[in-house]
Amino acid sequence: MSKIYLDNAASTPIRKEVIEIMSKSLHVVGNPSSIHNFGKEARSLIERARISIAHLIGAESSEIIFTSSGTEANNFILKSAILNLGIKYIISSPIEHLSVLETLKNLEKQYFVKIRWLKLKKKGEIDLEDLENSLIETSSSTLVSLMWANNEIGNILDIEKVGQLCEKYKSYFHCDAVQFIGHYPLNLRKTSIDFISASAHKFYGPLGIGFCFIKKPIKLNSILKGGTQEMGLRAGGENLSGIVGMAKALELSFKNLEKEKTYLEELKKYCISKLKKEVPIVEFNGNCLSFSKSLYTILSLKVPFKDELLGFKLELENIALSGGSACGSGSQKNSHVMENLYDLKMQSSSSFLRVSFGIFNKKEEIDQFILSLLRIISPNFGA
Ligand code: PLP
Repeated sequence: MSKIYLDNAASTPIRKEVIEIMSKSLHVVGNPSSIHNFGKEARSLIERARISIAHLIGAESSEIIFTSSGTEANNFILKSAILNLGIKYIISSPIEHLSVLETLKNLEKQYFVKIRWLKLKKKGEIDLEDLENSLIETSSSTLVSLMWANNEIGNILDIEKVGQLCEKYKSYFHCDAVQFIGHYPLNLRKTSIDFISASAHKFYGPLGIGFCFIKKPIKLNSILKGGTQEMGLRAGGENLSGIVGMAKALELSFKNLEKEKTYLEELKKYCISKLKKEVPIVEFNGNCLSFSKSLYTILSLKVPFKDELLGFKLELENIALSGGSACGSGSQKNSHVMENLYDLKMQSSSSFLRVSFGIFNKKEEIDQFILSLLRIISPNFGA
C-alpha cells in the first residue's frame, strides 16, 4: 500500500518546477558579496527573488530580509524589537508557535521586557477585548505578536481588527504568517502589520529558508554578527538556491491560488462530511469547521479516549499525520495548544490528531485515512 502524507502543515512537498530552478542555481559559482561577474550573477538572482516576493505580497524589496527559517525570522524580529525599538511590553498568546513562545519566555528572562499573555475564547480565538485592555494598560513601547493562522487548529486571526487596535494604541504589530502565506491573497500595504515571518517549506518550497518583512522606515539591527549581507540585517552567506526556490514556490502558489484553494476546500469538506458520517464520535477542535475562520489546509480532531499510540498506529497503516503537537509528529505529550483549549480531565481522556491537506492529496487518500482510523479506534467504542 502506498504511503499517504497528510502532514502538510509540518512541511509541504516541493513542487517540481521549484526543484528545477534550484538545481540550475546550484551551478552558479560566485559569492553574491563578491564584486566580480561571478558574484554579480549570484547577487542578481537573489535580488530578482527579493523583488518577486515583495511584489507578490505588497511590499517593497528593501522590506524583505531572507532568513534560514520561520523560526529565525521570529527570533530576529522579537529580539531586535527589544534591542532596537525599546520595546518594554510584548502582548502575545499562549498558543503561538514554539518559535515565538519559547523566544518570548527567554527574552523576558534576559531583558527588561514584560510579556502579557492574552486570554483565549472557547474555541481558541484570541480575546480581542483582552487585547484592547492590555494595550491600554501597557500604554507605550509595546509590540503585539500574534500568529495569522494557528498551525495546530487552523484558527485565523482577525488581522484587520488587531491592526486597528495596534494603530489606535500606537503599538508595533508582528505577525507570524508562516501557515498563511502562499495560501491566501495578501497585500501587506493594506494591513497595519509591521513585521511578518514566513517559511518556504509551508508553500511547496524548500526547507531551511524563510524571510521576514520589516515595514519601512522601521530599522532593526542584525542579531548575527559578521558581514553586511541582507542590507546589514543578517550576517552570513546567502542560501542562494533556497532563496531562488522560495521565490519560485511563492510565485506558483499565487499563480495557482484560486484553483488550489478551491481544490483543497473541497478536500477538507469531503473529509469533514465523511468523518461526521462514518466516525461520528470524532469532534473538531477550534474553528476548523468554519471556512472563514480557519485554514482550509488544517483539520484538527479530538477522539474521545486516550490512546498515546494513535499517531503511531496510523503510521503503521501508512498514514502520516501529526498528533496534537507543534511540529513533532508522534509526540506523546499534549501540545501547549490543546493544554490551553481543554481542561486536564478532557486532555487526559482525549487523543488529538491534525490532518493537514496539500495539493498533492487525493480524495482516495482521505477514504483510506478514514478506513484506517475506524479500524484502529472502533475497538474502543465497541463499533
Ligand atoms: N511558525 C509557525 C506558525 C509554524 O507552523 C512553523 C513551523 O511549523 C514555524 C513558525 C517555524 O518555521 P520553520 O520550520 O521554517 O522554522
